[in-house]
Amino acid sequence: MARAPAVPLAPGVWRIPTAGRAMINSYALVGDDGAVTLVDCGVKRAPARIVRGLAAIGKHPADVTRIVLTHAHPDHVGGAAEVARRTGAPLALHAADVPYAEAGNSPPGDPTVGGARLFARLSSGRFPAFEVAQPLADGDLLDVAGGLRVVHTPGHSPGHVSLLHEPTRVLITGDALFNVAGVRWPVKLFCTDFQMTQLTAHVLGELEYDVAAFTHGPEITDQARERVRGFLARLSRE
Ligand SMILES: [Zn+2]
Repeated sequence: MARAPAVPLAPGVWRIPTAGRAMINSYALVGDDGAVTLVDCGVKRAPARIVRGLAAIGKHPADVTRIVLTHAHPDHVGGAAEVARRTGAPLALHAADVPYAEAGNSPPGDPTVGGARLFARLSSGRFPAFEVAQPLADGDLLDVAGGLRVVHTPGHSPGHVSLLHEPTRVLITGDALFNVAGVRWPVKLFCTDFQMTQLTAHVLGELEYDVAAFTHGPEITDQARERVRGFLARLSRE
């Protein structure tokens, strides 16, 4: 089966895989006026696949009017500088991750995780630096295709956000949760504060949505909220 360059999730909402079939995902949200908002830009080499994904939904880089980033890790913002250059669109990122974006460096890993420091030295965590035109804050409602809500879910990184597209009830979890062989926590080693990741994810059980979309793994379209809530409830029982 051929790899789809763009997967429809709801009217005007598409997943654009930038690695594998759903290993790393970007998203495109298309407004009534045809303007495109991109969510995340993949690794440094991802922009070509993002452009192919846009073409598959009849869009051109020039149609992109805004780029929203879930957090400053190289597999999400590695292509940000290049996508901004190709589209001319401004970049939005939570204020707490802005210094890392401007330095072109990931936030630190969790110091309680054994080997984190060594790992940080081996894997550079670096990406092409970029300027953030719009620093985001928790609760912001972005004027994107009828309204995109910013939900600050720090822990994975200080400024990590999940995004709720209210009109279509699609939740983009970002790296707050993975859906790789089932709903699971992000890799501990890559979290700035793993415990905080687990604490703040609970808000994802309280939001209203029908589709849970992940930056790592395929979407859940059936009983999405119940499945996320079921996963989060396991933690409270531990
Ligand atoms: Zn990440």
